[in-house]
Amino acid sequence: MSGLLEGKRALVTGGSRGIGRAIALEFAGEGAQVVVTYVSNDAAAAETTESLKKLGSEKAAALKGDAGDPAFAKTVAGYMKENLGGCDILVNNAGITDDGLLLRMKPESFDRVVATNLNGAFYMLREIAPLMVKQRGGRIINISSVSGIKGNPGQVNYAASKAGLIGLSLSAAKELGSRAITVNVVAPGFIRTDMTAALNGKQTEQSIAAVTLGRIGEPEDVAHLAAFLASEKAGYITGQVIAVDGGIIL
Ligand code: NAP
Repeated sequence: MSGLLEGKRALVTGGSRGIGRAIALEFAGEGAQVVVTYVSNDAAAAETTESLKKLGSEKAAALKGDAGDPAFAKTVAGYMKENLGGCDILVNNAGITDDGLLLRMKPESFDRVVATNLNGAFYMLREIAPLMVKQRGGRIINISSVSGIKGNPGQVNYAASKAGLIGLSLSAAKELGSRAITVNVVAPGFIRTDMTAALNGKQTEQSIAAVTLGRIGEPEDVAHLAAFLASEKAGYITGQVIAVDGGIIL
């Protein structure tokens, strides 16, 4: 039986750990060739590459570089073109937090979070979209957050970056639609990864209490939606913001 993404070439930024890793593995399990990017954790990247290969993605690779660096995006697009012959699916997932209250937040903290989460997605989109335009088709999925929809205390930098990602995606969807390229946004709620493991007990308790389904989400909960949006079956869905949040937003 062939998978949902058989023969597709996918790029997942920040795909070595957490949600990105789950998306990469799900894609490979559905028959895609998957390349991930990461910035510092070599061991996690090597482990993920190995797992991707075991799932049948023999061209799996982990490219190291900073999402906030436009030159890195160029290098990655060049790699996709040379080694995979193009790119059918781009998931802009790389993201960081640097929480702090507005009145105490340093401008550097604001700039760093926006540079990674928002500028990074723009840089990658700018380099990968031309490959998709040439192919006359593609799937772009940008990983935002419910913080970008409803705000969150202590996250003016993060929420701004994630809200910005929504505007960027809607505009890109309009620009690229005529080439059969869809652009959608997935907005996770509270998901079990290293990012949320950094929160203290009280913050975790409060976050779970706000979830309608009463539990923390798993990275796979997000990956299942990403795989569908990346597939041919989602060809008539574009410019949507879909929350995977257990009803935290209700
Ligand atoms: P995570 O566990 O901290 O993993 C982050 C991944 O991004 C890692 O692979 C990391 O690479 C990579 N990364 C970080 N900074 C990077 C940079 N400057 N350049 C390139 N790669 C970079 O995070 P996560 O929880 O899976 O989050 C993934 C995405 O989902 C983020 O955009 C986040 O904002 C969003 N999100 C998460 C949640 C949640 O509850 N977890 C909720 C809403 C939205 P290294 O391993 O090298 O550090």
